[in-house]
Amino acid sequence: MKCTKAHKLMSASLDGELSASEQELLAAHLKQCVACGKEYHAFQEMHRLLHHAQPFSAPPYLASRVMARLDTVETRPFFSPLWANFAEALMIFMVIGIGVASGNLISNSMGLHNFDDGLASMSLEIFDATPPESLGGAYLAMLEVSNEK
Ligand SMILES: [Zn+2]
Repeated sequence: MKCTKAHKLMSASLDGELSASEQELLAAHLKQCVACGKEYHAFQEMHRLLHHAQPFSAPPYLASRVMARLDTVETRPFFSPLWANFAEALMIFMVIGIGVASGNLISNSMGLHNFDDGLASMSLEIFDATPPESLGGAYLAMLEVSNEK
C-alpha cells in the first residue's frame, strides 16, 4: 500500500468504516512506514480528544436574537459587487471593441485589406534602409531567406 492510500484510509479506520481486509492492509503499512504511523497516532489522539470533548450548548435565545438582527441588516445597495463585476466586464468588452474597430479603421485607411500582404510590405519598406549588420538588417535578411524558400 502506498502512503497516499494509507492517508485516505486513516480517517475511515478511526470511524470503524473499513472492512477487515482494508484494516489489515492499513495496519501492515503503519507497521513498516514510520511517517504514516506517526500521522495515524496524531489522528487517533485528535479523534480521542474530539470524542471526549464536552458538548457546547448555544446560549439561550440565540436563534431568536440572530433572527431579530437579520431584520435590521440593510438590503443590498444598488451598486452591489455583482453590478460592479458586470460594469467591469462591460468596460473590458468596450475597450476591446474600440481597439478592434480602430485597428480596422487604420488598416482600411492604409489600404491594407489583407493583413499578411500589408505586414510584408510594411516590414520591407521600414527595414529596407537599415544597415545589414543592425538588428533590422538581420531581420530583413531572415525575411529574404524565408521568402526564397
Ligand atoms: Zn506511509
